Amino acid sequence: MIDIPLSEILTHLGEERSQYYNSIAPPVIQTSNFAFDSPESFAEKISNEFEHHIYTRGNNPTVQILRKKIAALEKTEDALITSSGVAAVSIAITSQLSAGDHIICVSRPYDWTRKLIENILARFGVEFDFVDGTNLNSIRDAIKTNTKVIYLESPNSKTFEVQDLRGCVAICQQHKITSIIDNSHCSPIFQNPIDFGIDLVVHSGTKYLNGHSDVVLGVICGSEALIRPMFQREFMTFGPIISPLEASMVLRGLRTLDLRVRRSDATAMKIAQYLEKHPRVSKVYHPLLPSSSQYQLAKSQMSGNGGLVSVEIDARNTTEMNTFCSHLKKFLLGVSWGGYESLYIPFYPFYDRLDQNTPSVPFNFIRFYIGLEDFEYLKSDLKHALDSL
Ligand SMILES: *Cc1c(COP(=O)(O)O)cnc(C)c1O
Repeated sequence: MIDIPLSEILTHLGEERSQYYNSIAPPVIQTSNFAFDSPESFAEKISNEFEHHIYTRGNNPTVQILRKKIAALEKTEDALITSSGVAAVSIAITSQLSAGDHIICVSRPYDWTRKLIENILARFGVEFDFVDGTNLNSIRDAIKTNTKVIYLESPNSKTFEVQDLRGCVAICQQHKITSIIDNSHCSPIFQNPIDFGIDLVVHSGTKYLNGHSDVVLGVICGSEALIRPMFQREFMTFGPIISPLEASMVLRGLRTLDLRVRRSDATAMKIAQYLEKHPRVSKVYHPLLPSSSQYQLAKSQMSGNGGLVSVEIDARNTTEMNTFCSHLKKFLLGVSWGGYESLYIPFYPFYDRLDQNTPSVPFNFIRFYIGLEDFEYLKSDLKHALDSL
């Protein structure tokens, strides 16, 4: 495990300033291809595309600075930067499976992760089971002789169930299974799954890593032994890259990762405590609230939660839910999260558009993302909407 101080990673790591006029900001090397001095040097480099600059679908110097920082943030040997979080999920999962293999996934993963497994991998002869990740026995009971991957999301999407990472890793090691986790929720600031022995860590970098709601990207972190073949096969073949310009935007976002995530986390905790006491809120979902049934486990794995808080509003019907939503003026209604702006998303408006077997949430369920605004400013918006009921 690699442990470099966070300040070093966010400020200096991966930046070869002497190679570009000692410029403080990294340059955007906006090129598709690179030239070679001689046929000999071309031959040498093309035999090892993983380590050399040949073509930007493989390596690009601006993207590589980002790649080094992301690997260091997750304490892994290497990382790949992809064009979206779902590209990272798809590459990490497909790299570990062949026809006839079996994957176990926690129930209620990110929606497109579920669709990858159910709709696409199934077409290529991969078997799957979705299991209750809060219960190690249900994971253990799902293991078959052909199980190759256990896929985790801790905490998982919308309702934030936490999995016992140490327990999951022990099961994986006993059965020689690769463990993959989506760590978007905690960000590398609050949880490093490698500390628990997880093999591959993916993120939607669109969320906290970029943090400014203006770039879509993903990352995959792991040992060189896992990342190198993944680069050579799935990454180079599927071709999901971000542009050097986008990489430089993400590098700028990353400078303040620690500040932003800690600010969101602190405000979200106060908002969760406020909502818990409000008579028109019937349930609050936040793994680090002492009232959470998974508080002890969450506390032993996560040093913070970040900005996500879900609730069930004490509303009788969707008309009352509409009333509540229409009184929120500062929170924007939108998908995604992890930027500077606070957001909310009710799920009842697209109930009838969800696939039949989507594990659902009640009509009165809303997910909030707490951005960088002031606590009192956000609280008064929530109070206004709750008092309208
Ligand atoms: C948003 C999200 C993804 C997908 O990431 P994109 O960057 O939108 O492709 C995957 N997992 C989780 C937990 C997410 O929240």
